[in-house]
Formats: sequence, structure tokens, C-alpha cells
Amino acid sequence: MRVGFIGIGNMGLGMAANLVKAGHEVAAFDLSDEALARAEAAGCARAPSAGAAAAGAEAVVTMLPAGAHVRAVYRDTLFAAAPAAALLIDCSTIDVATARDIAAEARARGFAMLDAPVSGGIAGAAAGTLTFMVGGSAAEFAQAEPLLAAMGKTVVHAGAAGAGQAAKIANNMLLGATMVATCEAFLLAEKLGLDPATFYAISSKASGQSWSMTTYCPWPGVGPETPADRGYQGGFAAALMLKDLKLALAAAGDTNASVPMGAAAAALYQAMNNAGAGGRDFSAMLRFLDGAAMP
Ligand code: NAD
Repeated sequence: MRVGFIGIGNMGLGMAANLVKAGHEVAAFDLSDEALARAEAAGCARAPSAGAAAAGAEAVVTMLPAGAHVRAVYRDTLFAAAPAAALLIDCSTIDVATARDIAAEARARGFAMLDAPVSGGIAGAAAGTLTFMVGGSAAEFAQAEPLLAAMGKTVVHAGAAGAGQAAKIANNMLLGATMVATCEAFLLAEKLGLDPATFYAISSKASGQSWSMTTYCPWPGVGPETPADRGYQGGFAAALMLKDLKLALAAAGDTNASVPMGAAAAALYQAMNNAGAGGRDFSAMLRFLDGAAMP
């Protein structure tokens, strides 16, 4: 397929590279020249503008920072530049309301459009092991599935337009809350005199078990290797967790959903971010709660 790819950042680069590896012809655009040079090195053609990336494309994928960027790129460029038959796929993590608005505007113009945010991080983007949560009609999903499968290992149809973003922010709100809870449980256990490795051995097999504990353990030297073992560098930045928690709280406000644990997690990640530690992995919440100097 001829694919236009807009937003070749940390995530977009690996995703575009995997499309090339799967035999697709990718025209890439980013505002950053360095990003475009990396895309070229990964086998993409360098497009001089978003419009040029979309011209003649059978599918256009966007991987942009936030809702404002997505609105601008679709309204200012893609709706005019993409061929009428092009499938539009936004993989950015954005608010549900923007995802629904842009999908409705796309449909009004005759485009097929999906929201397809991802889980799996930069490593998953590079390895092609992302999970895609997809919102759109069944027919649009069927059209997009092979392309998404070239960039990920799990592709799930979550429901109608916006359902992918809804799944993503609800999941990440749960992740933020369980990470904070896992960090405070380790700190309490240690202050009560337990060896953290012993606490891990018990809790990872008991009812306190969660992904935050067994796959992404925030205590260094305990469980599998995680960012905690690398000084909390790399992984999923606390600032990105804060972004997702804010999207969840905004959606909860719009729908009158009660999310006290999500709100508590958001306040803590906001405080960690204010302390200058937004670039650390989100499991550095352990150090923040322990009163360690940040960042
Ligand atoms: P990033 O900042 O590294 O990349 C975004 C890219 O978009 C940048 O290269 C930027 O120059 C480009 N850009 C911005 N406006 C543009 C425009 N108008 N036209 C063309 N290019 C433009 O961000 P990222 O880490 O790659 O994340 C991208 C999206 O994926 C975000 O919505 C993020 O929340 C989501 N996400 C990130 C991760 C992660 O671990 N990094 C995990 C899951 C989801």
C-alpha cells in the first residue's frame, strides 16, 4: 500500500519503519528535519509537507502529540489533500471528544476514519508489538486491520468512533492508579521491616498482584528487569502518564463518571511533574513518594 505517515517522533519512527519492512511504500512528514532524516534512514520517502505525504495515499496514519495537533493537521491539510478513497487512521492518544468530532467531519467528507491509539511504548513501536485499540465501523476496521497488524501484535476493535481512545484512557487511568498503589505498598512493607524481594514474592502471587507489580515492578532489583533497574530512565515518562490521566479526568467530567482513584493518581503525577521529574519513568513515583530528591 502507499501510506502517508505524519508525525515521525519516538513512536511514529518505529511504526513507519515496520510498515516499510512489511512492504508498504511510506511517504513521511514531520515538522522536525531530524525526525525526517531518521525516517529516510528507515526506508521512508521524505515528503516536503503533510499534504504531499497524503497526496496519492491509500492510507494516511497520524502519530501526533495531542488533540490540538490532530485537529490542525486534519482540518488544515488532510481533508483537502488526501484522496477521497484514502483510509485515515489517527494513532495519537487524544481526547475522546476530538476523536469523535474529527471522525464525524471525515465521514461528512466521505472518508473512512479510525481512532487507533496504542499501548506498548517506544520499545513496542520499534519491535512491532503494539496493541491497537480501534474505534470505527466494522467495515473500516476490516480495511485497516492488515495495516495495523504490520505495526502491532494485537489489534482490537473497541467499538464506534472514539471507542479506541475511550479504551486507551480508561486503561491508562487504571495503570496510573495501580502503579501509585504498588509503590506505596512496597514503601509500607519496607518500613514495616519486610525485605522488598520477600514482599514481591508474596504479593506477586497474592491478591495484590497487578501488571504494575509483576511486569513493571517499581522496586529496583526485584522481579523482572524494568526501568527501576536503570535509574528510572526510559520506559513510559511520568509526563505522558500525567497527559493520559488528564484526558481521563476530562472525559470523566464530561460523562459524570466518578473517578476518585484516577484523580488521586493525577494529582500525584502532577506533583511529580512539578518537581521536575516528568522525564523519569512513571514508576519513579516510588522515589517521589519516598521523599527522594527529584528529578
Ligand atoms: P513525540 O513528541 O516524540 O512525536 C510527535 C511528533 O509529531 C514529533 O516528531 C513532532 O515534530 C511531530 N509533529 C507535531 N506537530 C506536527 C505537525 N503539525 N505536522 C507534522 N508533525 C508534527 O511523541 P511520541 O512519544 O511519538 O507520541 C506520539 C503519540 O503517541 C502521543 O499522542 C502519545 O501520547 C502517544 N503514545 C506515546 C507513547 C510513548 O511511550 N511515547 C506510548 C503510547 C502512546
